[in-house]
Amino acid sequence: MRFVLWFARKTSVELKIVFATLVILLVLPLILVVIVSASGLAAASQALASLNPITHLVEVFDADGNKVHELELSTVWPTTGYVSDEFGTHDTIRRLLGLNRHTGIDIANERGLFGTPITTFMAGRVVMVDSVDDSSCGINVKINHGHGISSLYCHMQSTPAIVNAEVKPGDIIGYMGSTGASTGSHLHFQTMVYGIPVNPRTFMVGQPTGTY
Ligand SMILES: [Zn+2]
Repeated sequence: MRFVLWFARKTSVELKIVFATLVILLVLPLILVVIVSASGLAAASQALASLNPITHLVEVFDADGNKVHELELSTVWPTTGYVSDEFGTHDTIRRLLGLNRHTGIDIANERGLFGTPITTFMAGRVVMVDSVDDSSCGINVKINHGHGISSLYCHMQSTPAIVNAEVKPGDIIGYMGSTGASTGSHLHFQTMVYGIPVNPRTFMVGQPTGTY
């Protein structure tokens, strides 16, 4: 502090400008990183999968932008409740905790109930069942839907899912809970293309139902 006061008193205006410019140049890469990460998640999501407004099919692209697959929109939300946090949000709590942007959609129910059944939003094969609460995702299940598409279901209370089992919408893969980095009962529902988070709403229509 003493140095700053001395600097302010003794230094000429020109030197102050030089110094300020130097500070801005040093901080600039940081500012750019913040800007890129703010739009990057949404841009990557859009580049990997998007809805064709004419055919109403979801199109999946490779890294070169070539369409590699198209599929119907899903109407099956993985659980009942309401969306408590959308994809890509970066609220104050997340920032204070040093967390990145939200990589999925959170679904909770108004009374914070535990044990609400969770199903897969699309047919696929169970590729991972983590039934031990030892990560930020808590008890979780990952499903491979083919064509580079996968989905992840976090914070479960428990799961009856079995690795390699074929599952379809309606099959129960877990029950809503608050395991892992969670402050209340909810489902963190994440969809990915080539392992990169894509907004689940790209694949879904409507809203989850049955708030109670
Ligand atoms: Zn979440």
